[in-house]
Amino acid sequence: MTITTAGSAGSDVVIVGAGIIGLACAHELIRAGASVRVLEQHLPGAGQSTRTGGGIRLSHGSEINVSLTRASMPFWEGFEAEFGVDPRYRRTGHLFVTSDDRHDAFLRTQADWHREAGVPTRILDNARMKSRWPHLGALGFAVGSHCSEGGYLDHHSVIFGLQQAVRENGGAIHPGTRVEGLHAAGGRIGGVATSTGDFRAGVVINAAGAEAGVIAELAGLCIPFRSRRHELLIVRPREPVPDDTPWLIDMDAQVHLRPDGQGRALIGGFLGRDDEADPRDYAREHSAGWAGCVRAVASASFGLNEPECEIVEGWAGLYPGTLDYLPVLEESKPGLITAAGFSGTGLMHAPAIGRIVRQIVRGQDPEEIDLSALRASRFDGQQGVAEATGF
Ligand SMILES: Cc1cc2nc3c(=O)[nH]c(=O)nc-3n(C[C@H](O)[C@H](O)[C@H](O)COP(=O)(O)OP(=O)(O)OC[C@H]3O[C@@H](n4cnc5c(N)ncnc54)[C@H](O)[C@@H]3O)c2cc1C
Repeated sequence: MTITTAGSAGSDVVIVGAGIIGLACAHELIRAGASVRVLEQHLPGAGQSTRTGGGIRLSHGSEINVSLTRASMPFWEGFEAEFGVDPRYRRTGHLFVTSDDRHDAFLRTQADWHREAGVPTRILDNARMKSRWPHLGALGFAVGSHCSEGGYLDHHSVIFGLQQAVRENGGAIHPGTRVEGLHAAGGRIGGVATSTGDFRAGVVINAAGAEAGVIAELAGLCIPFRSRRHELLIVRPREPVPDDTPWLIDMDAQVHLRPDGQGRALIGGFLGRDDEADPRDYAREHSAGWAGCVRAVASASFGLNEPECEIVEGWAGLYPGTLDYLPVLEESKPGLITAAGFSGTGLMHAPAIGRIVRQIVRGQDPEEIDLSALRASRFDGQQGVAEATGF
C-alpha cells in the first residue's frame, strides 16, 4: 500500500462517501490488506445507491461501459456465495425497441460491434419479438435489440452485504461525518478535515457521488460533474407482469419497464427531459405530473399496464454524471483518486471500479481496460455525448 500514517485517525486510505462505489472500493482495498476508513455524511447507501432501478446491463452504447459491466458480472453472479446475502439477481436481459429510422440504424451498428465484443445482442423484427414473448402482443415496434445477459437486483441487499463485509474485515465506516476540507503536504493530499475531526491517510478517494464536484473543488480541481434528476415508479397492473418479460426500453418515447418479480412493474423514463439538478437541493419524491405521464406512455409503448394503474411506490434521485455521461476515474492529484460521475451505471460498474481503484492505489496497471476515456482532461477540449443508451 502507499503510505501508512500515524495517529489515532490515520489509515492507509480514506474514502469519501459510503455509496456503492465507496463501499466496493473499501471492500477491495481491505482484501488487499489496506487499513480503510469510509466517511459518510449521512448513512451508508443514503445517496443515490438505494434509489436505483437495480439494473445490471451489458447492452451499452460505449465500449468502456461494456467493459466495466462485463468485468463486474462475476461479482454479481457470486455475490451470495461471497457475502452470504441474496442480492435477488434476476436475469431478464434487455430489449431496446424502436420504430425510428435513426434509432434503428444506431441499434444495428451497436449490435454489430456488440457481437465483435462478445456481447450476446441480436436484432429482432416485430414478428420475432412477439413469437419469443407472446404476452407482448401489443408491442408495435418495428425492431428490437435484445441482449440476453443482465437484469436487475436489489440494491438494499447489496449495500447491506458490502457494509457488513467492510466492517467484519476490519474497515471502519463513519456515518454522520461530513468531509469539509482536504489536507495537503509536500504537493500530496494526505487527509481530510471533517465535521467530526481530522483523518490522515496515504490516499483519499473521492467517491462522493453527486457531490464529487464539491470534493474536487476542495482540491482546486474543476471537473464538470452534472446531475440529472430521474424518477421511478413501482406499479400494479391489472394483469400481473410475467417474470420472463425482458427489461423493455422504448428509445423513441424514452420510457422503460421491467417486471419486479411480484407481478408488478418498475417503470421510468426521462420522457424527453434532461433537467440538471442541484445535488444539495432536489425533490426526492416523484412528481404527480410525471407519474401520470409515464404510466400513460409506458402503457402505450408496451401494453403491460393501464394508464391509471395503482402506484405502489415511487421515488426520485440523481444520475450523478458528467457532461458526456461517463465517469471520471483517475488519480486526479498525488494522493487523490476520483471515482465518480457514474450516471445511470454506478451500481452495475461498482465491482470493477473497486478493483481498478485498488490497482491504482497499489501503483499497478489497471486490468485490461483502457481507462483513457475516463480521464477528466477529456473535458479540456470539446466533447460530444459518448454514451447514448442511458435510460
Ligand atoms: C432513479 C435512478 C435509477 C438508477 N438506476 C440505476 C440502475 O438501474 N443501475 C445502475 O447501475 N445505476 C443506476 N442509477 C445510478 C446509480 O444510482 C449511481 O450511479 C450510483 O448510485 C452512484 O454511486 P456512488 O457511490 O457514486 O454515489 P452515492 O450512492 O450517491 O454515494 C455517494 C455518497 O457520498 C456521500 N457524500 C457526499 N459528499 C460527502 C461529504 N462531503 N462527506 C461525506 N460524505 C459525502 C453521500 O452522502 C453519498 O452517500 C440510478 C440512479 C437513479 C437516481
